[in-house]
Amino acid sequence: MDHLLSDFVIGASAAESMAEFLRHPTVVDLLPHLVPARLSLARPPISNFKVAAVGLGADGRVFVGVNLEFPGLPLHHSVHAEQFLITNLLAHGCPGLTAVAVSAAPCGHCRQFLQELRNSSSLQILVLDDEFRPKNKIPNFMPLSEFLPIPFGPHDLLDHQTPFLLENQQNKLDLLPETNSPKLTSTNGNLTNKNPQISEETETLLREAALDAANRSHAPYSGCPSGVALMDCEGKLYKGSYVESAAYNPSLGPVQAALVAYVAAVSHGGYERIVAAVLVEKEGAKVKQEDTARLLLKAVSPKCEFHAFHCQSSG
Ligand SMILES: [Zn+2]
Repeated sequence: MDHLLSDFVIGASAAESMAEFLRHPTVVDLLPHLVPARLSLARPPISNFKVAAVGLGADGRVFVGVNLEFPGLPLHHSVHAEQFLITNLLAHGCPGLTAVAVSAAPCGHCRQFLQELRNSSSLQILVLDDEFRPKNKIPNFMPLSEFLPIPFGPHDLLDHQTPFLLENQQNKLDLLPETNSPKLTSTNGNLTNKNPQISEETETLLREAALDAANRSHAPYSGCPSGVALMDCEGKLYKGSYVESAAYNPSLGPVQAALVAYVAAVSHGGYERIVAAVLVEKEGAKVKQEDTARLLLKAVSPKCEFHAFHCQSSG
């Protein structure tokens, strides 16, 4: 179990063995050396500017993030490497992030996104230069508070009981009973329930996975959690939870989060392999994902069947 799990997750003892083998004093010192090889996993077909971020989780595992761009859509649909990294930690239930090495300086958007973590000001960040040497000489790692010295973040908006991002989140959502007959639609909005490729049984699995993702969604600012589950042509499921930022715009949508799970699992498979998707969100939500989710899925996998279900708070 505790070994090299994928290109995007390294088990704690494997990371320690790797650091020891390569004669780095700690796993933190290993992080920058893992960055260059991960750049090939990035998918930025618009900018061709690949970014990789490698972070040490609070449980000792090492996680990887890369940037994703989606042709045919506005740029704000892009996923930055640091967002991918945090989404990857969230998907694997890792409770915190202690240090990150990244191939380019974190943009303002990502500095803000990282602000969602508890004790974010002490998060250690190392930026590599073009030759993949630490850009800042001594000390190599600098705290996020040096990158974002006067922060606005969750401390300004949330009370002490509200979980921060990566902390145990349970939104206590239940699905609402469906009043309409099955309404699977393709992402172009046409009804396809006459001849759906996805069985009812499969849709139930997708719905349960999307509900689970919605229950882990970090949406303390709007109170509108949501989750998406995707299925590929081999029947494998990938789920993603919507994550909000106190500054709103750096928030990461549930389809993006599910695409992060897909990329993290398959490394190189194309998005057109995604054949079905289910979104779960609250009925009448102020922050509604359905139309945007359909748009994004249509751009990445035009034949993907899509269905939205509604949920409500149960407690
Ligand atoms: Zn960024």
